[in-house]
Amino acid sequence: MRVIAIVNQKGGVGKTTTCVNLAACLADRKKHVLLIDLDAQGNSGSGLGIDKKSVEKSIYDVLIRQQPLTEVMVKEQRKHLDVVPSTIDLAGAEVELSTTAERELCLRKAINELKEKAEEDENYKYDFVLIDCPPSLSLLTINALAAADSLLIPIQAEYYALEGVSQLLRTVELVRAALNPKLHIFGVLLTMYDSRTQLSNQVYEEVQNFFQEKLFHTVIPRNVRLSEAPSYGKSIVEYAWLSKGAAAYSNLAKEVLKRAGMKR
Ligand code: ADP
Ligand code: MG
Repeated sequence: MRVIAIVNQKGGVGKTTTCVNLAACLADRKKHVLLIDLDAQGNSGSGLGIDKKSVEKSIYDVLIRQQPLTEVMVKEQRKHLDVVPSTIDLAGAEVELSTTAERELCLRKAINELKEKAEEDENYKYDFVLIDCPPSLSLLTINALAAADSLLIPIQAEYYALEGVSQLLRTVELVRAALNPKLHIFGVLLTMYDSRTQLSNQVYEEVQNFFQEKLFHTVIPRNVRLSEAPSYGKSIVEYAWLSKGAAAYSNLAKEVLKRAGMKR
Protein backbone atom coordinates (compact mmCIF):
# COMPACT_ATOMS: atom_id res chain seq x y z
CA MET A 1 0.00 0.00 0.00
CA ARG A 2 1.61 3.24 -1.15
CA VAL A 3 0.29 6.27 0.65
CA ILE A 4 0.81 9.48 -1.32
CA ALA A 5 -0.23 12.91 -0.05
CA ILE A 6 -1.02 15.49 -2.72
CA VAL A 7 0.17 18.64 -1.10
CA ASN A 8 0.83 22.33 -1.70
CA GLN A 9 -0.34 25.00 0.71
CA LYS A 10 -1.26 27.25 -2.21
CA GLY A 11 -4.88 27.00 -3.24
CA GLY A 12 -5.91 26.53 -6.84
CA VAL A 13 -2.76 24.79 -8.06
CA GLY A 14 -4.52 21.58 -9.12
CA LYS A 15 -4.29 19.33 -6.05
CA THR A 16 -7.90 18.19 -6.17
CA THR A 17 -7.95 17.90 -9.96
CA THR A 18 -4.82 15.78 -9.79
CA CYS A 19 -6.10 13.62 -6.95
CA VAL A 20 -9.40 12.84 -8.67
CA ASN A 21 -8.00 12.21 -12.13
CA LEU A 22 -4.87 10.36 -11.12
CA ALA A 23 -7.03 8.14 -8.90
CA ALA A 24 -9.39 7.45 -11.82
CA CYS A 25 -6.55 6.73 -14.26
CA LEU A 26 -4.81 4.37 -11.83
CA ALA A 27 -8.13 2.62 -11.24
CA ASP A 28 -8.57 2.27 -15.01
CA ARG A 29 -5.25 0.45 -15.00
CA LYS A 30 -6.76 -2.00 -12.53
CA LYS A 31 -4.94 -0.63 -9.52
CA HIS A 32 -6.95 -0.51 -6.32
CA VAL A 33 -7.13 3.05 -5.13
CA LEU A 34 -8.47 4.73 -2.01
CA LEU A 35 -8.91 8.49 -2.24
CA ILE A 36 -9.04 10.29 1.09
CA ASP A 37 -10.49 13.80 0.93
CA LEU A 38 -8.84 15.85 3.65
CA ASP A 39 -10.17 19.22 2.52
CA ALA A 40 -13.33 20.64 4.13
CA GLN A 41 -14.45 21.82 0.69
CA GLY A 42 -15.15 18.18 -0.16
CA ASN A 43 -14.33 18.76 -3.81
CA SER A 44 -12.55 15.53 -4.55
CA GLY A 45 -15.53 13.50 -3.36
CA SER A 46 -17.99 15.60 -5.33
CA GLY A 47 -15.66 15.54 -8.34
CA LEU A 48 -16.24 11.79 -8.40
CA GLY A 49 -19.98 12.15 -8.10
CA ILE A 50 -20.49 11.95 -4.35
CA ASP A 51 -23.30 14.30 -3.35
CA LYS A 52 -21.99 16.32 -0.38
CA LYS A 53 -25.48 16.58 1.10
CA SER A 54 -25.87 12.82 1.21
CA VAL A 55 -22.61 12.13 3.05
CA GLU A 56 -23.38 10.73 6.49
CA LYS A 57 -19.94 9.70 7.62
CA SER A 58 -16.74 11.33 6.60
CA ILE A 59 -13.07 11.74 7.34
CA TYR A 60 -14.19 13.93 10.25
CA ASP A 61 -15.52 10.84 12.02
CA VAL A 62 -12.18 9.12 11.50
CA LEU A 63 -10.09 11.95 12.88
CA ILE A 64 -12.33 13.12 15.71
CA ARG A 65 -14.41 10.07 16.61
CA GLN A 66 -11.78 7.39 15.93
CA GLN A 67 -14.03 5.54 13.49
CA PRO A 68 -12.20 3.17 11.16
CA LEU A 69 -11.72 4.26 7.54
CA THR A 70 -13.57 1.12 6.49
CA GLU A 71 -16.70 2.42 8.24
CA VAL A 72 -16.83 5.76 6.47
CA MET A 73 -15.63 4.96 2.97
CA VAL A 74 -17.81 4.79 -0.12
CA LYS A 75 -16.92 1.48 -1.78
CA GLU A 76 -16.58 1.32 -5.54
CA GLN A 77 -17.63 4.87 -6.28
CA ARG A 78 -15.96 3.87 -9.50
CA LYS A 79 -14.52 0.49 -10.43
CA HIS A 80 -11.42 -0.14 -8.28
CA LEU A 81 -11.80 3.24 -6.61
CA ASP A 82 -13.10 3.80 -3.08
CA VAL A 83 -13.51 7.24 -1.54
CA VAL A 84 -13.39 8.61 1.99
CA PRO A 85 -15.40 11.81 1.62
CA SER A 86 -15.10 14.97 3.62
CA THR A 87 -17.70 17.49 4.68
CA ILE A 88 -17.65 21.05 5.92
CA ASP A 89 -17.49 19.63 9.51
CA LEU A 90 -13.82 19.19 8.81
CA ALA A 91 -13.36 22.96 8.98
CA GLY A 92 -13.90 22.69 12.73
CA ALA A 93 -11.75 19.61 13.11
CA GLU A 94 -8.61 21.68 13.28
CA VAL A 95 -9.59 23.18 16.61
CA GLU A 96 -11.01 19.94 17.97
CA LEU A 97 -7.89 18.03 16.98
CA SER A 98 -5.63 20.51 18.71
CA THR A 99 -6.80 19.24 22.09
CA THR A 100 -6.43 15.51 21.30
CA ALA A 101 -3.43 13.48 22.37
CA GLU A 102 -1.06 12.73 19.47
CA ARG A 103 -3.07 15.12 17.37
CA GLU A 104 -0.61 14.84 14.46
CA LEU A 105 -1.02 11.08 14.23
CA CYS A 106 -4.79 10.54 13.96
CA LEU A 107 -4.73 9.80 10.24
CA ARG A 108 -1.64 7.61 10.50
CA LYS A 109 -3.34 5.47 13.15
CA ALA A 110 -6.38 5.06 10.92
CA ILE A 111 -4.24 4.08 7.94
CA ASN A 112 -2.25 1.61 10.03
CA GLU A 113 -5.52 0.00 11.09
CA LEU A 114 -6.54 -0.15 7.45
CA LYS A 115 -3.28 -1.92 6.59
CA GLU A 116 -4.00 -4.50 9.29
CA LYS A 117 -7.53 -4.96 8.04
CA ALA A 118 -6.20 -5.46 4.51
CA GLU A 119 -4.18 -8.46 5.69
CA GLU A 120 -7.39 -10.36 6.40
CA ASP A 121 -9.82 -8.79 3.94
CA GLU A 122 -8.98 -8.46 0.22
CA ASN A 123 -11.60 -5.73 -0.15
CA TYR A 124 -9.37 -3.31 1.66
CA LYS A 125 -6.14 -4.11 -0.12
CA TYR A 126 -5.06 -0.98 -1.95
CA ASP A 127 -2.18 -0.33 -4.32
CA PHE A 128 -2.48 3.39 -3.71
CA VAL A 129 -3.98 5.63 -1.06
CA LEU A 130 -4.11 9.23 -2.36
CA ILE A 131 -4.72 12.01 0.14
CA ASP A 132 -6.11 15.33 -1.12
CA CYS A 133 -4.75 17.99 1.25
CA PRO A 134 -6.24 21.35 2.15
CA PRO A 135 -4.56 24.57 0.96
CA SER A 136 -2.63 25.21 4.17
CA LEU A 137 0.14 23.80 6.31
CA SER A 138 -2.36 23.17 9.05
CA LEU A 139 -2.72 20.30 11.48
CA LEU A 140 -4.74 18.44 8.86
CA THR A 141 -1.89 18.67 6.38
CA ILE A 142 0.56 17.61 9.11
CA ASN A 143 -1.67 14.56 9.67
CA ALA A 144 -1.33 13.77 5.97
CA LEU A 145 2.45 14.24 6.01
CA ALA A 146 2.75 12.04 9.09
CA ALA A 147 0.63 9.31 7.51
CA ALA A 148 2.10 9.30 4.00
CA ASP A 149 5.10 7.49 2.57
CA SER A 150 5.60 10.19 0.01
CA LEU A 151 4.36 13.42 -1.50
CA LEU A 152 3.16 14.51 -4.88
CA ILE A 153 3.51 18.28 -5.22
CA PRO A 154 1.48 19.97 -7.96
CA ILE A 155 2.93 23.30 -9.05
CA GLN A 156 1.03 25.71 -11.23
CA ALA A 157 2.94 27.04 -14.23
CA GLU A 158 2.69 30.75 -13.40
CA TYR A 159 4.75 33.65 -12.11
CA TYR A 160 6.19 32.90 -8.67
CA ALA A 161 5.54 29.19 -9.21
CA LEU A 162 8.14 28.26 -6.60
CA GLU A 163 6.89 30.77 -4.07
CA GLY A 164 5.98 28.94 -0.89
CA VAL A 165 7.87 25.81 -1.91
CA SER A 166 10.70 26.39 0.55
CA GLN A 167 8.19 26.77 3.38
CA LEU A 168 6.55 23.52 2.30
CA LEU A 169 9.91 21.75 2.19
CA ARG A 170 10.81 23.09 5.65
CA THR A 171 7.57 21.65 6.99
CA VAL A 172 8.36 18.33 5.31
CA GLU A 173 11.80 18.37 6.99
CA LEU A 174 10.24 19.00 10.40
CA VAL A 175 7.73 16.20 9.95
CA ARG A 176 10.48 13.87 8.75
CA ALA A 177 12.63 14.64 11.77
CA ALA A 178 9.89 14.46 14.38
CA LEU A 179 7.28 12.03 13.11
CA ASN A 180 7.97 10.27 9.84
CA PRO A 181 11.59 9.57 8.82
CA LYS A 182 10.63 7.69 5.64
CA LEU A 183 8.71 10.62 4.13
CA HIS A 184 10.04 11.61 0.69
CA ILE A 185 9.01 13.40 -2.46
CA PHE A 186 7.45 10.99 -4.93
CA GLY A 187 7.17 13.59 -7.65
CA VAL A 188 6.55 17.18 -8.63
CA LEU A 189 3.89 17.89 -11.25
CA LEU A 190 3.60 21.00 -13.37
CA THR A 191 -0.08 21.88 -13.86
CA MET A 192 -2.06 24.30 -16.03
CA TYR A 193 0.82 24.39 -18.44
CA ASP A 194 0.38 26.38 -21.63
CA SER A 195 3.02 25.38 -24.16
CA ARG A 196 2.26 28.43 -26.30
CA THR A 197 3.53 30.83 -23.68
CA GLN A 198 7.13 31.58 -22.95
CA LEU A 199 6.22 31.85 -19.30
CA SER A 200 5.22 28.19 -19.07
CA ASN A 201 8.50 27.15 -20.66
CA GLN A 202 10.48 29.35 -18.28
CA VAL A 203 8.62 27.94 -15.30
CA TYR A 204 9.29 24.39 -16.51
CA GLU A 205 13.02 25.10 -16.57
CA GLU A 206 12.95 26.82 -13.21
CA VAL A 207 11.07 23.96 -11.56
CA GLN A 208 13.30 21.38 -13.23
CA ASN A 209 16.43 23.16 -12.02
CA PHE A 210 15.04 23.13 -8.52
CA PHE A 211 13.60 19.62 -8.32
CA GLN A 212 15.75 17.84 -10.93
CA GLU A 213 14.59 14.28 -11.60
CA LYS A 214 11.71 14.63 -9.14
CA LEU A 215 9.80 16.62 -11.77
CA PHE A 216 7.46 14.36 -13.76
CA HIS A 217 8.08 14.32 -17.52
CA THR A 218 4.31 14.55 -17.88
CA VAL A 219 2.97 18.07 -17.61
CA ILE A 220 -0.73 18.81 -17.24
CA PRO A 221 -1.93 21.32 -19.84
CA ARG A 222 -4.44 24.01 -19.12
CA ASN A 223 -7.56 22.37 -20.49
CA VAL A 224 -11.09 23.63 -20.07
CA ARG A 225 -12.47 20.07 -19.99
CA LEU A 226 -10.57 19.51 -16.74
CA SER A 227 -12.37 22.42 -15.13
CA GLU A 228 -15.78 21.36 -16.46
CA ALA A 229 -15.66 17.70 -15.42
CA PRO A 230 -16.22 18.20 -11.65
CA SER A 231 -19.59 19.88 -12.17
CA TYR A 232 -20.75 16.62 -13.78
CA GLY A 233 -19.30 14.58 -10.93
CA LYS A 234 -17.03 12.83 -13.37
CA SER A 235 -13.33 12.28 -13.77
CA ILE A 236 -11.80 13.55 -16.97
CA VAL A 237 -11.63 10.05 -18.48
CA GLU A 238 -15.37 9.65 -18.17
CA TYR A 239 -16.26 13.21 -19.04
CA ALA A 240 -13.99 13.76 -22.03
CA TRP A 241 -11.73 10.84 -22.69
CA LEU A 242 -10.41 12.31 -25.94
CA SER A 243 -9.34 15.58 -24.32
CA LYS A 244 -5.77 16.67 -23.77
CA GLY A 245 -6.45 16.67 -20.07
CA ALA A 246 -7.45 13.00 -20.12
CA ALA A 247 -4.35 12.07 -22.12
CA ALA A 248 -2.14 13.96 -19.69
CA TYR A 249 -3.54 12.31 -16.54
CA SER A 250 -3.40 8.94 -18.23
CA ASN A 251 0.28 9.53 -18.98
CA LEU A 252 0.82 10.66 -15.42
CA ALA A 253 -0.68 7.41 -14.15
CA LYS A 254 1.75 5.49 -16.36
CA GLU A 255 4.66 7.51 -15.05
CA VAL A 256 3.53 7.03 -11.46
CA LEU A 257 3.36 3.26 -11.95
CA LYS A 258 6.81 3.26 -13.50
CA ARG A 259 8.27 5.27 -10.62
CA ALA A 260 6.55 2.99 -8.14
CA GLY A 261 8.17 0.03 -9.89
CA MET A 262 4.80 -1.44 -10.84
CA LYS A 263 3.63 -2.95 -14.11
CA ARG A 264 1.61 -1.01 -16.79
P1 ADP B 1 -6.51 22.95 -5.49
O1 ADP B 1 -7.11 21.66 -5.06
O2 ADP B 1 -5.01 22.96 -5.45
O3 ADP B 1 -7.08 24.13 -4.77
P2 ADP B 1 -8.03 22.57 -7.94
O4 ADP B 1 -7.66 21.23 -8.44
O5 ADP B 1 -9.33 22.68 -7.21
O6 ADP B 1 -6.85 23.17 -7.05
O7 ADP B 1 -7.99 23.57 -9.18
C1 ADP B 1 -8.34 24.94 -9.03
C2 ADP B 1 -9.24 25.34 -10.20
O8 ADP B 1 -8.54 25.22 -11.43
C3 ADP B 1 -10.46 24.47 -10.34
O9 ADP B 1 -11.53 25.26 -10.78
C4 ADP B 1 -10.07 23.46 -11.41
O10 ADP B 1 -11.19 22.98 -12.12
C5 ADP B 1 -9.17 24.29 -12.29
N1 ADP B 1 -8.11 23.49 -12.91
C6 ADP B 1 -7.25 22.63 -12.29
N2 ADP B 1 -6.38 22.10 -13.17
C7 ADP B 1 -6.70 22.62 -14.39
C8 ADP B 1 -6.16 22.47 -15.71
N3 ADP B 1 -5.10 21.68 -15.94
N4 ADP B 1 -6.73 23.17 -16.71
C9 ADP B 1 -7.77 23.98 -16.47
N5 ADP B 1 -8.33 24.17 -15.28
C10 ADP B 1 -7.80 23.51 -14.22
MG1 MG C 1 -8.43 21.25 -3.47
